[in-house]
Amino acid sequence: MAYELPDLPYAYDALEPHIDAETMRFHHDKHHATYVSRANEALEGTQWADTPVEEVLKSLDSLPEGIRTVVRNNAGGHYNHALFWTSMSPNGGGAPTGDLAAAIDSAFGSFDELKGAIRARGLGQFGSGWSWLVLDGGKLAVESSPNQDNPISQGKVPLLGVDVWEHAYYLKYQNLRPAYIEAWFNVVDWDVVAQRFAAAA
Ligand code: MN
Repeated sequence: MAYELPDLPYAYDALEPHIDAETMRFHHDKHHATYVSRANEALEGTQWADTPVEEVLKSLDSLPEGIRTVVRNNAGGHYNHALFWTSMSPNGGGAPTGDLAAAIDSAFGSFDELKGAIRARGLGQFGSGWSWLVLDGGKLAVESSPNQDNPISQGKVPLLGVDVWEHAYYLKYQNLRPAYIEAWFNVVDWDVVAQRFAAAA
């Protein structure tokens, strides 16, 4: 079955003032929608057309060469944004608790150190991309990726990602990527991240 654009799990303005409604509207209705339609166009009529997006992204090397890049970019864009919307909540922010908090303290020293690592990877990503909290061989790590690449294609489990493409922040923050990332921490849904961690750890 072709991929479908998922609805946002909250209103366009629900993440105000941290993420503005106009950005959410363009980002979801235009950018994410385009990734979905381009991925579907590329996969239509191939043996991969009914394969879940996670499996496609784990199998990029097996895709026909003629569609590999367009699928990497657009199926990646679909997966990344679906994960992104569900990683945020109007009730987000604060700090993780429970097993995830303990694992973060063990891996990074503290939650503030983790935030610093996510921020640094997001700011250090030249051009468009993402900064990720992942499970790599069962261990928490922070890394960045260019474009719409996802750690899943390297056998890792993405737990949380911040979109640092300019389209994610330019309307409100213009060139101020650091201000956007700081604001984004106020809407991260750590309960969802903890659920992903529990499912994958
Ligand atoms: Mn985006």
